[in-house]
Amino acid sequence: MNNRIDMKGIGKSFFATRALDDVDFSCVAGEVHALVGLNGAGKSTLMKVLGGVYQMDEGRIEKNGQPIEIAVPADAGEAGISMIHQELSLINELTVAGNIFLGRELRKGNTPFLDKAEMARRVKLELDRFGLDLDPNRPVRELNSGEKQIVEIIRALMSNSWLIVMDEPTSALSEEDKGRLFEFIQRMKAEGISIIYISHHMPEIFGIAEHVTVMRDGKIVLSERTAETTEDHVIRTMTGKELENFIKPHKETKGEVILSVSALSKSEDYRDMSFDVHRGEIMVLTGLRGCGAPELAKAIFGLDGEYDGSITYRGQVLKPGRGPAKSVKDGMGLVTENRDKNGILPQLSVRDNIALPFLEKSVKGGIIDSRYVDNVVGKAIADTSTKTESPAQEIRFLSGGNKQKICFSRWLDSDLEFLILLEPTRGIDVHAKADIYRIIEDLAERGVGILILSYEIDEVIMLADRVITLYQGQSISEYRYPNFDKDKMLADMAGVGQSH
Ligand code: ADP
Ligand code: MG
Repeated sequence: MNNRIDMKGIGKSFFATRALDDVDFSCVAGEVHALVGLNGAGKSTLMKVLGGVYQMDEGRIEKNGQPIEIAVPADAGEAGISMIHQELSLINELTVAGNIFLGRELRKGNTPFLDKAEMARRVKLELDRFGLDLDPNRPVRELNSGEKQIVEIIRALMSNSWLIVMDEPTSALSEEDKGRLFEFIQRMKAEGISIIYISHHMPEIFGIAEHVTVMRDGKIVLSERTAETTEDHVIRTMTGKELENFIKPHKETKGEVILSVSALSKSEDYRDMSFDVHRGEIMVLTGLRGCGAPELAKAIFGLDGEYDGSITYRGQVLKPGRGPAKSVKDGMGLVTENRDKNGILPQLSVRDNIALPFLEKSVKGGIIDSRYVDNVVGKAIADTSTKTESPAQEIRFLSGGNKQKICFSRWLDSDLEFLILLEPTRGIDVHAKADIYRIIEDLAERGVGILILSYEIDEVIMLADRVITLYQGQSISEYRYPNFDKDKMLADMAGVGQSH
């Protein structure tokens, strides 16, 4: 019979905090079950209840339909449940096999002498079973973090665990080690082992898990087969109110045309693109990666002059390749997709990064008017709810979301008239996303014309007044708020059914 665990009606409070509220959670052998949720959602607490680290206040745990008691970690071990914690618990001075047999060493006959050869042989067999290439006699101190993690898992498997809980296992791993871990996970699954995998990383979850459970505020808010849901839906359930709070303000009015692109072509990149953007309008270009939109955006910002056709801005045809300085002077801004490379200067402070575009404006008689800069910077940080210790903090210590907010905040108090955004929320945590959407809407409200390139269909629909889909450098279709047909857009982006 296949093993299974059912946690039913689990409740757990820490003083006034209701960490777990009537949680039902099940896991069956041979599946990878992803457990996701924002920080503080209750994931670790739930797993610590399962592992006998914490005692639940209410509820029960069943193994194969029979109630079991897990009061201490040894009870969990007895039930075949092991936890791999982020802080690994190996002893550096011992070998791989020595660590795996720690506490239940094999001895030679009835002697007190350790049977190292036999322990190494058994570990080797287990490693071979999972296709892992690791020498059982190597001291653990020589291993990298990926290999150490594997040793921990092998130790759990060799003490007859069928359920392994991994709390954010890839956070410290290189790409290569990640690949190795995923392969190992697939093989464990094939051997009927079950894995509960705590992670925030959607591609990982959708790559290896058949089931995903989402927690929010101590409750289960989604439990679904991964094949039946989407990354986007999971993210949305995870954050709940955050993005629901963002409701696109519906604007009836928009201003005159600020930018007009006419028959723009560049060899392989894009062909015969024509569109207008009005003041106060959010125009979104979307497609698959490689659709040509970033190249087009660069031409508009004056970074590339090798094109045919013309770009008219504020009524004047722009000089091809005029350069970013001229664009900024003319009230045009660009926030790039690769913020660490192009968007920010990592060694500079938050303050100096925000002030970059204003420095010219803030020079009075040859010296920088730092009162002016401080005011602008203070306001920008507040307006974008950027989390930073102080304006003097080096920007490289900020999270991706906060760095991105700074890339935006620079433009908030400038004479900005037109802003180009390349993948505005790429790699950004969901908390920061809603803030960024609000900033974009505020700018549009102020009459700034906005051109966004986004590959995330739900983001496109959430932000756009107008959408142009591109496929292999060509415009396929145009949609206007509120007539967005997501399925049709996706088909257009993929070059399916190009009838119109
Ligand atoms: P997650 O692992 O999803 O980030 P946790 O299970 O660690 O969330 O935390 C859930 C909630 O319980 C949080 O509000 C957290 O502050 C609280 N909590 C967790 N462990 C303890 C503890 N030992 N003492 C007090 N509060 C705790
Ligand atoms: Mg946790």
